[in-house]
Amino acid sequence: MNVNVAQQLKEPVGSVRRYPVDEPLPPDNHLLTGELTFLRTGGGILVNGTLHTAVECVCSRCLEPFDCELTFQIEEEYFPQIDVLTGMPQPVPEEAQDFIVGPDHILDLADAFRQNVLLATPMKTICKPDCAGLCSGCGVNINTEGCRCAPEEVDPRWADLKKLMVGASRQKGRSEGANL
Ligand SMILES: [Zn+2]
Ligand SMILES: [Zn+2]
Repeated sequence: MNVNVAQQLKEPVGSVRRYPVDEPLPPDNHLLTGELTFLRTGGGILVNGTLHTAVECVCSRCLEPFDCELTFQIEEEYFPQIDVLTGMPQPVPEEAQDFIVGPDHILDLADAFRQNVLLATPMKTICKPDCAGLCSGCGVNINTEGCRCAPEEVDPRWADLKKLMVGASRQKGRSEGANL
């Protein structure tokens, strides 16, 4: 989203403009919507607003891709490189290097959108609150398929006993062999 802020930069500090946001967001072109307020500050333009979009995520339980809805706040101050009244270059604060109004007075929001979407995207996401995930035995997605594990699992309380019995019958076999 590009906004020509030449006019607003000529206005007094405190002047406000509002811009609707409704555009596809790269790379997967989910719609970004909301409204931004541009506030003329002493140094430049403070962009502020709440935006909504979706990003493609992978569910950390069932590993299926899904659209993860995001609502996030954006607040970035942009500083002009060129004084709009004199046409002369002007110094820009060190920390503002990503957020500069170019010599054409265009305020380009692409970087701010990208950075804020990245920040708002959770590290771990689940596709739905009751996602059943993958079976730890057979690995199927339990949301969509039936579990393929054998119905009779060894009861953990019996597992040790079973091990003892196997060991005992092996020993018995060995001693019988020695007797022959
Ligand atoms: Zn899931
Ligand atoms: Zn299973």
